[in-house]
Amino acid sequence: MGAVTYPARAVVDLSAIRSNVAALDERAGNAGVLAVVKADGYGHGLVPAALAALDGGAAWLGTAQLDEALELRAAGITAPVLCWLYAPGARFADALLADVDLSVGAPWMLGEILDAVRATGRTARLHVKVDTGLGRSGVMPRDLPDVLDAVLAAEAQGLCRMVGLWSHLAWADDPGHPTVRAQTQVFADAVALAESRGARLEVRHLANSAATLTDPSMHYDLVRPGLAVYGLSPVPHLGGPADYGLRPAMRLEAELALTKRVPAGHGVSYGHAYTTPRETVLGVVPIGYADGVPRHASGTAAAWGGPVQVGDRRLGVAGRVCMDQFVLDLGPWATEAAGDTVVLFGPGEHGEPTAQDWAEVVGTISYEIVTRVGARVPRVYL
Ligand code: PLP
Repeated sequence: MGAVTYPARAVVDLSAIRSNVAALDERAGNAGVLAVVKADGYGHGLVPAALAALDGGAAWLGTAQLDEALELRAAGITAPVLCWLYAPGARFADALLADVDLSVGAPWMLGEILDAVRATGRTARLHVKVDTGLGRSGVMPRDLPDVLDAVLAAEAQGLCRMVGLWSHLAWADDPGHPTVRAQTQVFADAVALAESRGARLEVRHLANSAATLTDPSMHYDLVRPGLAVYGLSPVPHLGGPADYGLRPAMRLEAELALTKRVPAGHGVSYGHAYTTPRETVLGVVPIGYADGVPRHASGTAAAWGGPVQVGDRRLGVAGRVCMDQFVLDLGPWATEAAGDTVVLFGPGEHGEPTAQDWAEVVGTISYEIVTRVGARVPRVYL
């Protein structure tokens, strides 16, 4: 008998990540691939996802937080890493010592990064981020000339190297949206401005997964897919993963903790939001909202087939999703028993629900479904 294990797991197929990146690399043509591995590799595990992405042909990695970038270095990863989100006081010195490329998305960032350059004696590798219309971080186009001049003056003093110019799209998942064209134009103008002021850019980059998959004119020198690396479609209304040569990498599953027969009229879970309409067998699934099962999936028992696969059946959630568990109404003729596997989502190749199905059931996006799989759910790698 093996050790007792957690009764739920996220099984991550690293070969899917490798083949997804290879497919993205192929689609990107002459552009390289920066695999976005922030948020614990979109829930798949930061370092394993990064290593698989590099095996699949990614030339760069990208993270939001500096801690994530430093964790990649601590794992011995030497590929270029770009990190882009910080608040004042960030560990820029550690980032420079670890050879992490840094984004300049606001003037204060340049000031703090150059202070860290002086303190460490390291040259910073910088990517100036332009707000072409997303309204998050990024230098506003009106401030770009001043920021470019400051960066290029620092480059002339040997303090930094302006490696890249970049931006991020607001509506890439709707390729025909007018803001996509508008942002592309602002970006093209920003590139022209930077080059006219003497920037020797190695990488201009704009495309997330959706733009990588739908619009080669946005590939520039580097594409920055995240979701597609993990095999999910960023444009589900246009096509599923298979349409883009992608395979979802994560399967979330649990074992039934128990089954039991209850009479008609039995209230189920907090607030008795579900009451058994007849005598039936209930099954308790030991995974809940603390593990990332959306509480909004409560009460989907009567919905279409439902977002949970038991054997070859699809069921919904009976009553409320709790912190650690939820309940299924397995029906009066159920043959399932404690220990049987329940699949919440997977690639969809065996009739199981997908992360996209869950997203639709609870009114969110597949990004949120996979990134919210809780830290206590073990990741098992294939
Ligand atoms: N680039 C940046 C700056 C991001 O913040 C993200 C993720 O949100 C990505 C690229 C990857 O986006 P996606 O997962 O849609 O490919």
